[in-house]
Amino acid sequence: MIIVLKRNATREKMAELEEYLSQFDVRVNKWEGTQETVLGLIGDTYVIDAEAIGAHEVVSSVQRVQEPYKKVNRKFHPDNTVITLENGIKIGDGSVPIIAGPCSVESEEQILEVAEAIKASGATMLRGGAFKPRTSPYAFQGLQGEGLDLLLTAKKKTGLPIVTEIMRVSHIDLFENVDIIQVGARNMQNFELLKELGHLKKPILLKRGLSSTIEELLMSAEYIMAGGNDKVIFCERGIRTFETATRNTLDISAIPILKEKSHLPVIIDPSHAAGIPSLVEPLSLASIAAGADGLIIEVHNDPKKALSDGAQSLTPLQFDGICKNLIRATEFFRQ
Ligand code: PEP
Ligand code: MN
Repeated sequence: MIIVLKRNATREKMAELEEYLSQFDVRVNKWEGTQETVLGLIGDTYVIDAEAIGAHEVVSSVQRVQEPYKKVNRKFHPDNTVITLENGIKIGDGSVPIIAGPCSVESEEQILEVAEAIKASGATMLRGGAFKPRTSPYAFQGLQGEGLDLLLTAKKKTGLPIVTEIMRVSHIDLFENVDIIQVGARNMQNFELLKELGHLKKPILLKRGLSSTIEELLMSAEYIMAGGNDKVIFCERGIRTFETATRNTLDISAIPILKEKSHLPVIIDPSHAAGIPSLVEPLSLASIAAGADGLIIEVHNDPKKALSDGAQSLTPLQFDGICKNLIRATEFFRQ
């Protein structure tokens, strides 16, 4: 971190700043030029709040040299993190596992039918929301605890690991047998939830907020890792832009950027990104080419009757049709 001091900084005020900096585990190098005085901080500067330094009256500007995150940073962990689920499926090893299933779990019949179908097509994990974050309080809120039980039934019947969203800290115990806990876009900065998930040993699928920067996403992952849970998977699911042709805009560049900055795997959700079934295949292919570590795709046995996100869901038949191409693309790009 580099701190440039104001030209009129008095010795006394400079000493106050140096005294403040002494609480951190950093070395402070001082260069006194004819015009400017500059402080260079070396060490674990990620714990220092640059804005707080900027608030000191002798400080003219503050510049970070090191990123404000450490545990998610590739600099301190050059190898890719590979997450292995109970049944041996790996995420982050160069393969592109496909997670598929409905937006919401709606009934036993529905979840079992979709689970069997996506498994036969080549998906290796089942998704389904039991607790749903909906824009309207009058919209279907999910089957809640019953939805979780139905997912567990589907897991037992098919052997597919399950991925489902958590919305509150007090529900953590209910998720004991869930394989991957999803933190939805709307909760990416629910820091209390992130801190609690940091105490688990379970993989967390952290979705990028609708209007969050890549650095904010990295910082949210840092919250989980700071608590001791190193099994974090990023999920880019489209961000809000001025474009209205799609539900969101898939930020393809987030894949190579996240993989350059972090060692954690990156999964892409083309369903929420586009909001349009016909875009799922091209966006998935682009994601595989750009280095994605997996895909999460919404599939419903009867999209017209779906209680949430039916308009963007693929039918099992459509999913089966694109799966073959996704598997071929994976073989082509990852050989
Ligand atoms: C979902 O996965 O159904 C969902 C609500 O996703 P997001 O949080 O990305 O909107
Ligand atoms: Mn959805």
